[in-house]
Amino acid sequence: MEKKQYGLGDVVQMKKPHPCGTNEMEIIRMGMDIRIKCVGCKHSVLVPRAKFESKLKKVLRSAEAASEAPTDATE
Ligand SMILES: [Zn+2]
Repeated sequence: MEKKQYGLGDVVQMKKPHPCGTNEMEIIRMGMDIRIKCVGCKHSVLVPRAKFESKLKKVLRSAEAASEAPTDATE
């Protein structure tokens, strides 16, 4: 199984969209638990790391590698 790379400030897509209809969450805190904020409604939730990883679909935008964003045209 592929290890997903994510970090603080990254915008990620979850397997299930937020109830507001937005499927983009920004990582605003990293730790034992990860706090993510919905880009659409600004609602933030704290989820355990294991749960976050199981629900994470993909990283949409990496804060760190923003300058060299790879074009993912395989989908
Ligand atoms: Zn939302």
